Amino acid sequence: MKIPLVDLKANYLSIKEEIDDAIQSVIDDTAFIRGKYLEDFEKNFAEYLGVNYCVGTSSGTTALHLALVAAGINKNDTVLTVPNSFIATAECVSYVNGRLDFVDVKEDTGLIDIGLLEEKITKDTKALIVVHLYGQMPDMKRIKELTDEKDVILIEDAAQAHGSEWKNYKPGFYGDFACFSFFPAKNLGCYGDGGCIVTNDSVFEKKIRQLVDHGRTSKYKHDIIGFNYRLDALQAAILDVKLKHLDKWVDLRRKHAEFYNKNLKESIIRPVEAKNAKHAYYMYEIGVEKRDKLMSYLKKNGIGCSIHYPIPIHLQPAYKHLGYKKGSFSVAEKLAEKILSIPMYPELTQEQQQQVCDKINNFF
Ligand SMILES: *Cc1c(COP(=O)(O)O)cnc(C)c1O
Repeated sequence: MKIPLVDLKANYLSIKEEIDDAIQSVIDDTAFIRGKYLEDFEKNFAEYLGVNYCVGTSSGTTALHLALVAAGINKNDTVLTVPNSFIATAECVSYVNGRLDFVDVKEDTGLIDIGLLEEKITKDTKALIVVHLYGQMPDMKRIKELTDEKDVILIEDAAQAHGSEWKNYKPGFYGDFACFSFFPAKNLGCYGDGGCIVTNDSVFEKKIRQLVDHGRTSKYKHDIIGFNYRLDALQAAILDVKLKHLDKWVDLRRKHAEFYNKNLKESIIRPVEAKNAKHAYYMYEIGVEKRDKLMSYLKKNGIGCSIHYPIPIHLQPAYKHLGYKKGSFSVAEKLAEKILSIPMYPELTQEQQQQVCDKINNFF
C-alpha cells in the first residue's frame, strides 16, 4: 500500500459534490473576477480568524509582498525573518529592496528564538516576518511586546497556519498583518494558486484593497501604482466550501500527530507543542540521524516523505550576495540535516499511520 505525503485526491473525493456545485455556480454566473464569491469568502475567513479584514490575493507570496508595500518598507529598510522557511518568506523582502537579515531558531520547535530576536532587533529594524512553521505559532504575545517597543511592523507568515492558535488567538490577532497561502497542499488549499492578507487596521485594509487591484479608486482611475494580485472567484468559491471543514480537518491532523507521538520509536525526535500553542500540523516533522538513508528507505517502501526545508535561505544560491557562510545560523543548519516530514493529511487512516510507524521503527 502506497502512502503519499499528502493526498489531495482523497480530500477532494470527501467533498466532491459540494466542490463541483460551487465551481459550476461560478461558471453559471460568469462571475470570475471579484464579485460575491470573493466577498463571501473574505468575510467568512475574517470571521473564522476573528479579525476585521481579509483581502484575497493571487498567492501567499504576493500576500507577503503586499504586506511589505502597504507597511511602507523601502530600499535599505531592515526586515528580519528566520532562515528555515520557504523561500517566499525572503523573496518578498527582495521585491521591495529591503535589507534581509535573519534570526536563528529554537532547536525543539524550529520557531524563532525570541532571546536572539531581542538582541537583534534595533531601531533600524522596520519589520519582522514571523513564520508559523509546520502550523505552530511562537509566543506571539512576547513578540508583539518586542515589536511594539521598537516600533517594528509585525507580519505573520501564516502560510502553514490555518487552524493554528497562540493563547486561543489565531493568526492576525497579534500581527499588523497575517499572510496566508492557499497553495493546494496547505491546511486550507485551493485548486491552483491563492492567498490572502488579514489585518485589523482599516487604513492598511484600504491600502491593500487598492494595491491588489491595480491601484484603482474606480474602474479606470488609478491613484497609485498597484498590482494584479487578486484572488480568482473560482478559487474563493472552492475555499469557501473547504473552510467549513477546516476545523474538523485540523482536529484530525492533531489526532494523527498524537498517534505518531505514541507509536514512533523512542529515539525519534518528535514535534514539540508549546503549552499555549495549538499546533495545526500542516507538517509532522521528525528529527533523525541518518535522515537521507531513512528517506530512501521509506521511498523504496512506498511511503511519501520530504524535507521542509533542505537548504536554509541564507545558504541558497539566490542569496549568495548577502555573504552568509555555513555556521551563520547554526541551529537552522543543524535542523536542515535531520528533519523529515512524514505523511500527514486529514484522510490518513490509522492503518496507514501504523504502516508508516512500522517502516520507520524497522529502519532503526
Ligand atoms: C507556501 C508558503 C509560502 C508561499 O505561498 P505561495 O502561495 O506558494 O506563494 C510562503 N511562506 C511559507 C512559510 C509557505 O509555506
